[in-house]
Amino acid sequence: MKNIKAISLGLLPLLSGMAMGQNVQKQPNLVVIFCDDLGYGDIGCFGNPTIKTPNIDRMASEGMKLTQFYVGAAVSTPSRSALLTGRLPVRNGMYGERNHVLFPDSKAGLGQDEITMAKVLKENGYATACVGKWHLGAFSPYLPTDHGFDSYFGIPYSNDMGTGRMGRAQNYPPTPLLENNLRIESNPDQGEITRRYTEKAVGFIKDQKAGKPFFLYFAHTFPHVPLYTNDRFRGTSKRGLYGDVVEEIDWSVGLVLKTLEECGLDENTLVIFTSDNGPWLTQKENGGTAGSLRDGKGTWWEGGFRVPAIARMPGKIPASLSSEIMTSMDIMPTFLALAGIALPKGVALDGVDQRGLLFERQASARDEVFYWWGSDLMAVRKGAWKLYFKTIYDMYLPSMKIVDCEVPELYNLETDISERFNKSAAQPQIVAQLVEVANRHKQAMVIKAPVCDLREEFKQ
Ligand code: MG
Repeated sequence: MKNIKAISLGLLPLLSGMAMGQNVQKQPNLVVIFCDDLGYGDIGCFGNPTIKTPNIDRMASEGMKLTQFYVGAAVSTPSRSALLTGRLPVRNGMYGERNHVLFPDSKAGLGQDEITMAKVLKENGYATACVGKWHLGAFSPYLPTDHGFDSYFGIPYSNDMGTGRMGRAQNYPPTPLLENNLRIESNPDQGEITRRYTEKAVGFIKDQKAGKPFFLYFAHTFPHVPLYTNDRFRGTSKRGLYGDVVEEIDWSVGLVLKTLEECGLDENTLVIFTSDNGPWLTQKENGGTAGSLRDGKGTWWEGGFRVPAIARMPGKIPASLSSEIMTSMDIMPTFLALAGIALPKGVALDGVDQRGLLFERQASARDEVFYWWGSDLMAVRKGAWKLYFKTIYDMYLPSMKIVDCEVPELYNLETDISERFNKSAAQPQIVAQLVEVANRHKQAMVIKAPVCDLREEFKQ
């Protein structure tokens, strides 16, 4: 009885449209392809000179290339939580003061009181799948299948968190590969993981061909280090192994788009391609590049928070370049609005509906960006201007040194993309205005306790 009721409710918009004799548009399919540590300058259409990404470039030429797109944090766990909940990490608890991401010995994950877009879409009749890196909790009740996804296949945290890898603790378990909530392999061959993820993602799309609308969250493990690829891609790029790995991701994007076309789903599917944070610069040649942007992952310079982004829906999203401001947190309210689904009641969202920007080329629904690190608001952007309250002395030091700005530093991101020229002395009124924006934002913020600090080693 319960199932029949759910099906009836899911068909309601369709049936009511048919009754009125309208040309019924099925609810759109929704896909997010989320890379790990892919920098602003790492793909061809964002200016990389030696990494070939013809499929992603084609996606950009057919859709909207977003040159001022931001994530909710400059590292993995909080950024992913922001994408999926539409809320800043400081609001949803997925941050830490000592640990900025979850580790294999973390004691918790994204709380059941947080509502993901997958959960809302599933409750409203969507088929939902998560493929790839999760990093919001590696055991129940924190897994994708506990947060609104019908299925999951992937490595649940970063690929450098296995036994003894990258100087990590020797007592960490071997890197797990999960199917739903079961570990199906330990230490899977990472050279084959992009191919296996892609097969799962494509299989899911094919399964949905004639069924209900779907949401696919495809979160690549790469190009996060350690880098792996296979014989088909090794040595194919002038950029070395990093380039080979990105070129395999490009192949994967091409196959997802081709599958949508072959299934006749192309024009009713919105695909967003982006990254969880900027490039891991301290990995040298094994890390990416932020192009013209300053610094990278783990910093609140633009290279940490601003990532490449493309939105494609043929015939609906105009082929164009947009320098309007959008964030990953805007994806949830935009998706729900497109699907005709109400936002969750009583939940404070940091994302805004960006249908006007994507589909009508209107101005962005936001002109502000907030750059948090832990529970500190480090910088704020309004319009062209960005003001820093704290900055980083030298990110290449073994322990990153955060310093208070004696006088906040002010940069114009439209005339000075690389943040080289501090204008605070010349623009006191702009400084005062941005201080006011930051104060208003902080005063209204309800800060949640930090989940990422809950680890075995910190147990009292
Ligand atoms: Mg990352």
